[in-house]
Parts: sequence; C-alpha cells; structure tokens
Amino acid sequence: MVTARRDHKVDLVGPILASTSWQTKDNEGFSQTDFTIDWDNRRVTCPNGKTTSNWREDCSQHGAVVVRARFAMGLCRPCEDRQQCTRADATATMGRRITLRPQAEQEVIQQARTREDTHERKEQYAHRAGVEGTISQGVRAFGLRRCRYSGLAKARLQHQLTATAMNFHRLNAWWTGIPRAGTRTSHLAALRP
Ligand code: SF4
Repeated sequence: MVTARRDHKVDLVGPILASTSWQTKDNEGFSQTDFTIDWDNRRVTCPNGKTTSNWREDCSQHGAVVVRARFAMGLCRPCEDRQQCTRADATATMGRRITLRPQAEQEVIQQARTREDTHERKEQYAHRAGVEGTISQGVRAFGLRRCRYSGLAKARLQHQLTATAMNFHRLNAWWTGIPRAGTRTSHLAALRP
C-alpha cells in the first residue's frame, strides 16, 4: 500500500489485518489507536497524558523493521486505568509497551483500519469486487491469460477484441434476462453454522 501510493499514486483498496492485541480483541482496553504518536520527537503519549521514556528501532519476529516504545513502570503502576492497558502486574519492571511499524507504514495501516467499516470504503470495495469479477470472467470464459500471437501490438489488439466480446456477452445477458451466477462458497465457509 505504501509503495503503490508513493511510486504510482495508486490507493490500493483491500482488507487489512485487524490488530491482534487483546486490548483490541476484547474491545475494552486501550488499543494502539488510543495513543498519540509523536514521530518527530520519538515518543508516544497514552490516554492519560503520560509519555514513553524509551523508543528504539528493532526487528519483529518475522524480520520486519519495527519501533518499540515503552512506558516506565513508575508511571503505569499507580495508574488507575492499568487493568485496561497492560497485563503486567505490579511487580513487573516495565509498563505498557507499544510496537509500531515505520511511520509511513503505520500511518497507512491506521488509515486503512479507520476506514475499514465505513460506508465509503464498502462502496469502494464493491467497485473492486466488480473489477475482480470482470477479470475472472475474462480469464475463465475468454482465455485472457493466453496470447494467441506474439508481440505487444497483437497482444493489445487481442485484449481489445476480448473486452469488446465480453461487453457484447454481458449486454446479451442483460437484454435476455440471463441471471448472474451466484458467488461461489468455499468448502470452509460452507462449514460455518
Ligand atoms: S497504564 Fe501506563 S500507559 Fe496505560 S494509561 Fe496508565 S499510565 Fe498510561
């Protein structure tokens, strides 16, 4: 998403992995979105106005570059919201820890998660689903993945003729009332009660 936006000015529309932290999953704790990140001064401020005392670049267990920011236990121990924020008990030596991706990635992830459930995003995704359906039809029913002739000019002509044929095919289905095929249900989804 970052490189598509930066290098091609394209806004990639797709589902984004939700945060896996217990605070987000239980929907009752302070999740990362409740914290304010100050990238310039390399610090994070919690919902209670306390700031991190430690900020360092690190590697995740999957080898990705991450930033780990940490609150001092001296701040978190007496905090009355501690149960909602960290599972570290009172004997722990570290307070709440926040793991971030590099700024550009973090901001894109945050933005994508914020718009995930909005009406605007659902409309955008419907366009994408339509495009995916069209490509799928082109590939499965019109042999779009195989060029019959070599050379870019002929490949381009083939694509244009295929697109024209698809339009006629769809118009015919529209005019003669041929119903659309249903969306395939995967075997795994079919098991869901
Ligand atoms: S537990 Fe620590 S980080 Fe969390 S709200 Fe309290 S002071 Fe802030």
